[in-house]
Amino acid sequence: MSYIVTDNCQKCRFTDCVEVCPVDCFYADDKMLYIHPDECIDCGACEPACPVEAILPDDSMSADQEKWFEINRIKSESDDTYNITETETPLPTAEARKKELGL
Ligand code: SF4
Ligand code: SF4
Repeated sequence: MSYIVTDNCQKCRFTDCVEVCPVDCFYADDKMLYIHPDECIDCGACEPACPVEAILPDDSMSADQEKWFEINRIKSESDDTYNITETETPLPTAEARKKELGL
């Protein structure tokens, strides 16, 4: 099992999650973050840290969220992302997106 970042992260990128990850398995591009499913140790610390409920365990994703498992793996291993271990400034759209999500 692994935890996975889903589309609620898009337009947010709050990055609170990276601070709590004991194994630094978050990767980022300019749109959102991703978790490398082979590096994640399933500790669950990041799930409640996300203000927009973007992080879920892979065994509780809905059918339309399942594609995010492969997206997280591909993006984590891509040259287009970098390993993110410290909080960065959220995207300018973050607060508006959070309200749009009803959170
Ligand atoms: S805390 Fe949530 S919104 Fe912020 S970067 Fe992590 S997954 Fe994305
Ligand atoms: S579940 Fe734990 S190990 Fe996996 S990404 Fe979240 S904080 Fe990191």
